[in-house]
Amino acid sequence: MNPTIISKSQFIRGKKCKKSLWLYRNKSDERTPPSQKRQEIFDNGNLVGELAQKMFPDGVLVAEDYTKIAEAIETTRAFVREGKKFVFESTASNKEGFFSRIDVLEKNEDGSFNLIEVKSTESIRDYYLDDLALQAWAFIGEGYEIKKTILMYLKKGTYKTISENSVPEQIFQFEDVTEKVFERIDDVKKTGAELLDVLTQGEPFVKIGNYCDSPYECDFKEYCKGTS
Ligand code: SF4
Repeated sequence: MNPTIISKSQFIRGKKCKKSLWLYRNKSDERTPPSQKRQEIFDNGNLVGELAQKMFPDGVLVAEDYTKIAEAIETTRAFVREGKKFVFESTASNKEGFFSRIDVLEKNEDGSFNLIEVKSTESIRDYYLDDLALQAWAFIGEGYEIKKTILMYLKKGTYKTISENSVPEQIFQFEDVTEKVFERIDDVKKTGAELLDVLTQGEPFVKIGNYCDSPYECDFKEYCKGTS
């Protein structure tokens, strides 16, 4: 992979721990496979993503996978040129080397766009705002005018009831977090520059600590325990 390209999830990983990002990019085989519980969370997240798309019946999907960023960017542009209102997995990158795949890109009447990020949780976590700030930065860098950034997440008490038969209108809620997200873009740019720097150097030394489990367990914990 091009060392100057960092995805949104890698940014969030690197913000939590620069060593985790470095290991992910250079020693990915050392990751511990997800536990059954974590795998269930991933699977549920995929199901929530599929249900979310049903809320936008005219939506079209950018089908290229993560190995085809340039093609995904071009497909996104093509859908936008065709006037599609909702584009799933829309992709953009900025000249600084960060790329984003937003769950839903919504085109407004005035030619501006909204970024809608889907989360399979019943509350908003702080790092979701960094996630959206990184995405807004990437889309603005690609030339899109971003009007709103919105989190689409689960209503209280629905997580455990999710199934293929769930009715999307009954399980999702939306929150406009535009102001909070735009306030973070400068910090995201600063952190982004630091992370690019990390990738040009050798394996960072970072001591294992409580933060390794927050807000989720790092998948390099076993590696770090054996090498610290
Ligand atoms: S286990 Fe902790 S120190 Fe090691 S890479 Fe993960 S977050 Fe960083």
